[in-house]
Amino acid sequence: MTAMDASNRIATGKLSRPDFASIPRYSADAAAEVDLSDNTNQWGTPPAAAAALRAGVDASRYPDMYGDSLKRAIAKMAGIGAECVVTGNGSDDILDCVIRAFAAAGDTVAHPDPTFVMLPVFSRINGITPVPVPLAADYSMDADALLATNARIIYLCSPNNPTGSPTSIETLRRIIAGARGLVLIDEAYVEFTGTQGLLSEAPALERVVVCRTMSKAYGLAGLRVGYASAAAPIIETIEKSRGPFKLNAIAELAAVEALTADAEWVAARVRDAVESRDRLAEELRTIGLTPIPSVANFLLVPTPRAFAFAAALRERGIAVRPFRNLPGIGDAFRITAAPWPVMERALAVLRAVA
Ligand code: PMP
Repeated sequence: MTAMDASNRIATGKLSRPDFASIPRYSADAAAEVDLSDNTNQWGTPPAAAAALRAGVDASRYPDMYGDSLKRAIAKMAGIGAECVVTGNGSDDILDCVIRAFAAAGDTVAHPDPTFVMLPVFSRINGITPVPVPLAADYSMDADALLATNARIIYLCSPNNPTGSPTSIETLRRIIAGARGLVLIDEAYVEFTGTQGLLSEAPALERVVVCRTMSKAYGLAGLRVGYASAAAPIIETIEKSRGPFKLNAIAELAAVEALTADAEWVAARVRDAVESRDRLAEELRTIGLTPIPSVANFLLVPTPRAFAFAAALRERGIAVRPFRNLPGIGDAFRITAAPWPVMERALAVLRAVA
């Protein structure tokens, strides 16, 4: 090494981007026997997708660059063109790619608060400033306050996580009509709401991206599959940010099966989850807890004892997700809807410590 190189060397403690020092590395508690912390499908993997996994793929070949067979299956389901669909390594990947492609360093992304915890993180790792906008008192999104941010991107979670509360179509339309920039709508839990969502409409709405996942209703969290719809020029821009080969071959194969051959199985399990959720809400109320009305496959239960409940459940092998001091809500725990015997097991613990 030359003398000049030595004088130029960055101290080892300063090798990373300065703003990364305060960015958290996402982590969760160790796995539990029963995991009701992440809103996945508690009934398992859909059967045709499972068969595709067993059949396998030729792993020596690269997958399709942009996941074309999955794009076609989604396009058919939504009644839109395949050029209006992008696939990703989970919807996490899509959210990250959209933010990176549509906001530059120093721009802002407005989001409801609380919402999906990764949204501000994806903004910050891309050098973009997240602007939290509190939910209204009834947990609905505050359209005026979101629009008033004048942000480059407005993110909306419909229905919202962690509250499970719906985002009304009127609110969505008002924000789309008034937004200065892109509107990114995250429909990770839309299958549980009994509503259509905006997947089919997004391409015609011009400044809208509708993002979905196969990790929740579709039971494929382990494969990491997400997708989104938008007008073709928006999709092309997202794909620049995404790059090729993000969706692996076996995930693509299983995802197509889940969307097509497993559609009835998925619909039946969605009904099961909704039934369990509502029954669980009723039982929780009998022990003095007040879950927020949910249209998703989970309940958020505000209580100052959230961490005590979570710890008691964990002692019995059940993980739920406790949250500290959520804006306008306080401490709360989130619990995923599961087959009733599993819910009974959790309820027995909650009743004992309530
Ligand atoms: N959006 C929301 C609202 C979520 O809750 C999650 C998962 N927790 C995701 C996106 C990401 O899902 P995935 O990356 O598994 O598709």
